[in-house]
Amino acid sequence: MDDLAKALDKLQAKHLLRTRSTRSSAQQIEPVIDGRKVLSFCSNDYLGLANHPGIIERYVQAAREHGVGSGASHLITGHHRSHQALEEELAEFMGCERALLFSTGYMANLGVVSALAGRASTVFEDRLNHASLIDAAMLTRGRLERYGHLDMDELQHKLTAASERSRLIASDGVFSMDGTVTPVDALQELASTHDAWLVIDDAHGIGVVGEHGKGCTEGRLAHDIVVVGTLGKAFGLFGAFATGSRDVIEWCLQRARSYVYTTALPPSLAEAARAALQLVREESWRREKLRALITYFRTCADQTGLPVTPSETPIQPLILGSPLTALKASRSLLDEGILVPAIRPPTVARHQARLRVTFSAAHTETHVDRLIEALVKAA
Ligand code: PMP
Repeated sequence: MDDLAKALDKLQAKHLLRTRSTRSSAQQIEPVIDGRKVLSFCSNDYLGLANHPGIIERYVQAAREHGVGSGASHLITGHHRSHQALEEELAEFMGCERALLFSTGYMANLGVVSALAGRASTVFEDRLNHASLIDAAMLTRGRLERYGHLDMDELQHKLTAASERSRLIASDGVFSMDGTVTPVDALQELASTHDAWLVIDDAHGIGVVGEHGKGCTEGRLAHDIVVVGTLGKAFGLFGAFATGSRDVIEWCLQRARSYVYTTALPPSLAEAARAALQLVREESWRREKLRALITYFRTCADQTGLPVTPSETPIQPLILGSPLTALKASRSLLDEGILVPAIRPPTVARHQARLRVTFSAAHTETHVDRLIEALVKAA
């Protein structure tokens, strides 16, 4: 007990203790946080769907019709026709043979990677992969090899040097803290040459990247890749899915422990996700608006000398260095009524603490102007 108290004190002293603020409104551009309305640039609700009236209506109707709980895992009696329909629609959207729903993106990554790799495998991962992919590799009890961020040469060397016959490459599609995009073509080629599975966690890409919002793998041979998507970001909801070939998905259904041994999502959520998917497909103006806002932000940031990094996605980090510097910048923004929390280690590397700005199609240029003004002041 004493040890924990000391460890917590140490985190506090290093400005690494995390705290939660409490939201008392819906997830929206100007939420009420700790009793105060702020302008938020930190949600993953990229398309502005988290509070969409049509989706809410579908959710409520489905809850009335099907109840609020699914009552069991998918393989017992939890699998509902709404889940089935959503899986079929997601597979069709992604251009794959099958899709499988998971409760969260975290669980999808654990399940997929540990179903496809085991003790005798090597898992190759980009150094900046999301924590869930790293944890997934640990769960396989195989060997984990990490390569430098986007460094295909290093990946190739590591693949060539690996003696294990079973190989799996896993990468974020859009990197969650940097907004960079993985080179899918190069990964596909390396996976094919070295007979490795390729898993792309496109949590931040699906709905956002690509003309049709299919994410980083849009236009690629979908059959060869296992893609993990989440419903908690661009879809504005909760839950996740994996897509791939018939056999890969069937194997995950049989063997992914985070699929088999957990309660199915509520069917009402699946219905809401079907409504969200329809909007993701049909309302391309949301993606276009998002892109225009990103360009506008980057142009303004350039003009004002803000230290933005080369990201073309809604994730626009400003790397500030120490946790204290990032915290101070975040507090200064909050003084101006703008919410951008500081991202600190262990989420990012030491000396890489940052403000992670994210945009939503629900923002306007006026919102961006306010952000730029506050960032310049904070800098
Ligand atoms: N992958 C990435 C890249 C993520 O950023 C996240 C969420 N932060 C996840 C997976 C986990 O998704 P979920 O929130 O649905 O568990």
